[in-house]
Amino acid sequence: MVSRVIPVDPFDLVIFGGTGDLARRKILPGLYRRFRDGQMPEGVSIVGAARSEFDDDGYRAFVAEALAEFLPKAKLEPKAVKGFLDLLGYIAVDATGKDGWAELAGRMRKGVVQAFYFSVGPSLFGALAERLHKHKIAGADARIVVEKPFGHDLESAKALNATLAKHFHETQIYRIDHYLGKETVQNLMAVRFGNMLFEPLWKNQYIDHVQITVAETVGVGGRGAYYDKSGAMRDMVQNHLMQLLCLIAMEPPSKFDPDAVRDEKLKVIRALKPVEHEHIVRGQYRAGDGTPSYVEDAENPDSLTESFIAMKVHLANWRWNGTPFYLRTGKRMKARHSEIVVRFKEPPHSIFEEDTGQSANELRIRLQPNEGMDLTVTIKEPGPGGMRLIDVPLDMTFADALGEEASDVPDAYERLIMDVIRGNQTLFMRGDEVEAAWAWTDPIIGEWTEREDRPLRYDAGSTGPEEALILMHRDGRRWRELSS
Ligand code: NAD
Repeated sequence: MVSRVIPVDPFDLVIFGGTGDLARRKILPGLYRRFRDGQMPEGVSIVGAARSEFDDDGYRAFVAEALAEFLPKAKLEPKAVKGFLDLLGYIAVDATGKDGWAELAGRMRKGVVQAFYFSVGPSLFGALAERLHKHKIAGADARIVVEKPFGHDLESAKALNATLAKHFHETQIYRIDHYLGKETVQNLMAVRFGNMLFEPLWKNQYIDHVQITVAETVGVGGRGAYYDKSGAMRDMVQNHLMQLLCLIAMEPPSKFDPDAVRDEKLKVIRALKPVEHEHIVRGQYRAGDGTPSYVEDAENPDSLTESFIAMKVHLANWRWNGTPFYLRTGKRMKARHSEIVVRFKEPPHSIFEEDTGQSANELRIRLQPNEGMDLTVTIKEPGPGGMRLIDVPLDMTFADALGEEASDVPDAYERLIMDVIRGNQTLFMRGDEVEAAWAWTDPIIGEWTEREDRPLRYDAGSTGPEEALILMHRDGRRWRELSS
């Protein structure tokens, strides 16, 4: 495969929170990779801005350590590392005070793309936006990137949108959901809208159901106090699973353009029906073999927060009427495994005898591990023995199909940051989308709070509470096995 790295325009990128966990683990290693692959032209400047006191050289040494910690050794080419570190600078800034702002203003250049990554807690977004405006740091075309969580409920999300809107136009605001930056997620759109094969069948008439699973093996330890105020519904369903659902369920946009795509996603969110209580399973993990329980991790023995959720949701529109979407996500599960399964219906009439092994087609979109897609098709088992049927996967694993280079595709964060520089908002959430998602989520959470709903306990290393399996069994269906 021929590499087609297209350099972006020269830019100034300021990373507020440039010493934080996200910057060290994802943003800076991602930027290094884009530099190493030749995507950054001459004249790029990346400035870390946070509370710690560093000079430029001190920050370069700090970033060099982060690269060494979070990138495989083979990717650290000394010449490329040095070249990348030379682009970096640092300014100590107080988001809520006066320090550092005049100096930051002095570092920004005219005539290049300006981007400001808000990699800090959401309580600082307003203060940063206000100071960028007040000190005339951000030009009319500057972009700001804001991290999740975008609000805690509809009211806070509206307030956050209103705060940012005081100083920035919607076309300047990039709300990041890194699930949208994943190669396979984008490939889902390519497969749906770039082929004749799937779209005519992409409806309730031919699709039995859809499953979306995002399972993690880790617990919430380390960020237990934060997570306890959030839970799986706010932390995962309202944003990541919702975005995946939108891409599966949306109508074809008229073109691959930010507003055309986001208009269609918004319609999906608005078409979500309220979920019936018996279609939701909430869980909390127990202590495992040497691992603490959720309440220990959260340091809250009375916690009613869910670390697992499974639910059956329906869309009120012509295309999907009657086709259930099953969503599930959880911590401390059996395997780190994220995938979307689109299960087609069985043929209306079988010409083969019973027990020949015929079953329904399944399109599986794997996000991790081993990003890729496969489609199971039924064929005749080769050899003698009459007409015996087996399911075989048509495997579309990128690394196998497209060679070595495809296994080294940019990670979600680096792809999305380059989209910010290019000014392409297609893979970022619009303010109204986020608000619509909260408008659907709020009543569900509100009911739990009102009833003091107690999550079911599940074993660490399992697939969640048994009731989640029953949720599908009742409908004569089952979850695909979790495997790492
Ligand atoms: P962190 O606590 O590790 O880092 C916070 C950063 O903000 C530090 O650089 C700190 O110096 C800076 N900061 C704090 N107060 C400041 C102030 N008053 N003025 C200037 N700088 C200040 O946090 P993190 O884990 O890097 O997360 C940053 C944001 O990204 C949060 O909104 C978080 O929810 C979000 N996020 C993080 C992750 C992750 O994996 N860490 C994943 C998704 C989203």
